[in-house]
Amino acid sequence: MRFSRRKFIKSSSIIGSSLLFSRSISSDLFASTSENKPIVVSTWKPNLKSNARAMEVLLEGNSSLDAIEEGIKVTESDPNDNSVGLGGIPDELGIVTLDASIMDWNGNAGSVAFLQNILHPISVARLVMEKTNHVMLVGEGAKKFAIENGFKEENLLTEKSNEAWLKWKSKKQKTENHDTIGMLAIDKMNNMSGGVSTSGMSFKLHGRVGDSPIIGAAMFVDNKIGGAVSTGNGEYVMRTLGSFLIVEKMREGFSPQNACEYAIERLFKSRNDFDGVNVSYLALNKSGEVGAYSLKKGFTYCVTTTEENKSYESDCLMK
Ligand code: ASP
Repeated sequence: MRFSRRKFIKSSSIIGSSLLFSRSISSDLFASTSENKPIVVSTWKPNLKSNARAMEVLLEGNSSLDAIEEGIKVTESDPNDNSVGLGGIPDELGIVTLDASIMDWNGNAGSVAFLQNILHPISVARLVMEKTNHVMLVGEGAKKFAIENGFKEENLLTEKSNEAWLKWKSKKQKTENHDTIGMLAIDKMNNMSGGVSTSGMSFKLHGRVGDSPIIGAAMFVDNKIGGAVSTGNGEYVMRTLGSFLIVEKMREGFSPQNACEYAIERLFKSRNDFDGVNVSYLALNKSGEVGAYSLKKGFTYCVTTTEENKSYESDCLMK
């Protein structure tokens, strides 16, 4: 059985748990070679709820692409999550600007960057992938495309995020905010998809785009091998195409854990300006093995199987 071989990383510790399904699922149900037990992983502990939704979608027999979209939409709709979608911390001008990307098991990809006033950038990214010959749409063009496809314009700046911006504006104090959702899922047909959605760095320069919409930077999926997602300072991820690198190392035979460690070590050796900077990676291979590693401490991630929905804290390089 594929899942009896799953190993979680040795250095992780369980920091939260919730039982997802009261109904137990017979392992025989998935014994055939054409049906597999699904799995969902995502960055950051609060996204357990998004993983739970994605797993529901998978258990209904839907694709990993549907699961990624529906799971990430949960985080995008949450006004209390201040770094994705509604309630996202704005840029230096007090404007919420969103980046997202999605990739399926056929190597198709779509992304949006600097998108404003649209609640579900992950769904717009999917439409870019499915309805156009392009991979990325940005800014006004992305918004026009979204509206033409039935999305409504809405205000995403909540009272709470506006207050945070006013406070920052008056004091201009440095704030750290890294809570991008990056998610990977394998469906019953053993197909993997991935997605990322974020409002990016708090109080960033107007016009700044991060790693999240760059395919290969914050997210990459190769259905033969596995996938990876990132969170943290996007500039450090974009310079090294970390997610692509991790998938390539897994192709060479690295475990997801070793591949994440390799990417962080390589980043660490390449620069010496890590003050106030963190970068974290999460990877999943086609055998259902999970790996996670971070430059600095504090990175949490969620792993959801048919049996459980749990969060873990990853190990880090700079202790
Ligand atoms: N990677 C995101 C960005 O740089 C930030 C984050 O992960 O919170 O836009």
